[in-house]
Amino acid sequence: MLLGKERESITQFGRKLIDAQLTTGTGGNLSIFNRAEGLVAIKPSGVAYFDMTPSDVVVIDLGGTVLDGKLKPSSETLFHLSLYKFRPDINAVVHTHQIYATTIACLNWELPAVHYLISLSGNKVPLAAYATYGSPELSENILQAIGNYNACLLANHGLITVGINIAAAFAAAEEIELVSRLYYQSKCIGNPVILSDDDMKDVIKKLQTYGNL
Ligand SMILES: [Zn+2]
Repeated sequence: MLLGKERESITQFGRKLIDAQLTTGTGGNLSIFNRAEGLVAIKPSGVAYFDMTPSDVVVIDLGGTVLDGKLKPSSETLFHLSLYKFRPDINAVVHTHQIYATTIACLNWELPAVHYLISLSGNKVPLAAYATYGSPELSENILQAIGNYNACLLANHGLITVGINIAAAFAAAEEIELVSRLYYQSKCIGNPVILSDDDMKDVIKKLQTYGNL
């Protein structure tokens, strides 16, 4: 079986997305890129996470051609492939419709540095303009918005996170949900104080040096 290890990780982290309440049913998707082999393991379209087995996970190349697996790759495969071509530093992509981050995305706002854990993205989470899911236009909007950030809100849609591995992309999705919720809640009762770029530079430097929060 091609990319056996990666396919196993996709099933494990897919279940973690449900357990962490970052997605429901068959929603959202995730992939892992094995750069040495030039192959991507990606969630199949329309399969519930707890029903998904490693052999259900689809293996494709960067052109989107299916090389192993009987099912259709995710309907949102295009932006996964675009991100791997655009960002040589990433090997995993997680996409969710998680509630609090998507609430911010429905307002077409960026997420500011209301809490230092936003550092898993950078000094903010940028916003990609709306386009139909799975469309080339949406991929284009994501590449324009994400730059070197590790997360990107999708207007009226959800969130994408990227990372050096699937654990990092998952952790970013989880922490960005916390920060989104804190932003929502603090706006409900007052005016949240946003950390300065200098404060965030210190946190990001520390994160790079020590590798944990
Ligand atoms: Zn989506």
